[in-house]
Amino acid sequence: MSNSPRFNIMSSLIACRECDLLQREIVLPPGGTACCSRCGAVLHRSKPDSLDRTLAFTVGAAVLFILANVFPVVGLEAQGNRTSTTLFGTVRTLHDQGMTSVAVLVFVTTILMPMLDIGAMLYMLLPIRLGVVPKGLPAVFRLVQTVRPWGMVEVFMLGTLVSLAKLSHIAAVRPGIALWSFGMLMFLVAAAAVSFEAHDFWAQVAAAGRRGRRFHAKTAGMETAR
Ligand SMILES: [Zn+2]
Repeated sequence: MSNSPRFNIMSSLIACRECDLLQREIVLPPGGTACCSRCGAVLHRSKPDSLDRTLAFTVGAAVLFILANVFPVVGLEAQGNRTSTTLFGTVRTLHDQGMTSVAVLVFVTTILMPMLDIGAMLYMLLPIRLGVVPKGLPAVFRLVQTVRPWGMVEVFMLGTLVSLAKLSHIAAVRPGIALWSFGMLMFLVAAAAVSFEAHDFWAQVAAAGRRGRRFHAKTAGMETAR
């Protein structure tokens, strides 16, 4: 354990994700880290305002995701002909040209999975920030863990940049708003994932649940008194 000479011992237990050792949970000071006593793996960190920061990054990512899908990714100009396309336009063109499997791959990894990831994070974080536990929270939490590895915006960015570098010899290439948005989206999604602390999140869920139960109990009491 680090960052504090004194710890309060809590009654709950915590399992190490690396070696499965069950340990007593302690209250950490702000910025403190709890490590496994057997293998040294990080059990959890106390990051002040981690959920607020994650929510801010996620809202930013949602705005950029909309821009990335509404505006053209790139504009090309060759021999007086201009052409530009959005990301969904690219998917449709690939499908029309008989490359349906590539179209599905691009759609799933750059549109569907990032959309589910950002949408699910907002669905979980916004109500918890307001002190309300959203319906089906555990399932949505697992959905985020499942879809996250399949969001490959960075692979798309890399592929697009390599293609543009090659195309620049035969046509004038103009990066569109969507390309810049995708670039920034990549960093915001990564920042949201890094700043999210599952331990703090579930602690806030438990606190919101307790407040909700007290509120319902009070309301039921008022109705009985009437
Ligand atoms: Zn361990």
